[in-house]
Amino acid sequence: MKLSVDRERCCGAGMCALTAPEVFDQDGEDGRVLLRDPQPPHRHHAAAREAAAICPAAAITVIEARQT
Ligand code: SF4
Repeated sequence: MKLSVDRERCCGAGMCALTAPEVFDQDGEDGRVLLRDPQPPHRHHAAAREAAAICPAAAITVIEARQT
């Protein structure tokens, strides 16, 4: 899994950091998302997917690794 965030879209709602705090953080200055781990370990995948799904600004993109 690879993650990317669009800080321009982010509205600083903080849902991602609450849902997957190991993966996402919030900038202490502007409140927008910070990506702590763009390639999180498997144990954090479910939370990262959920964070992307609930982000009100659709600012989180999840690229699933291809199954080979
Ligand atoms: S949930 Fe979305 S809008 Fe809210 S801080 Fe995270 S990336 Fe930004």
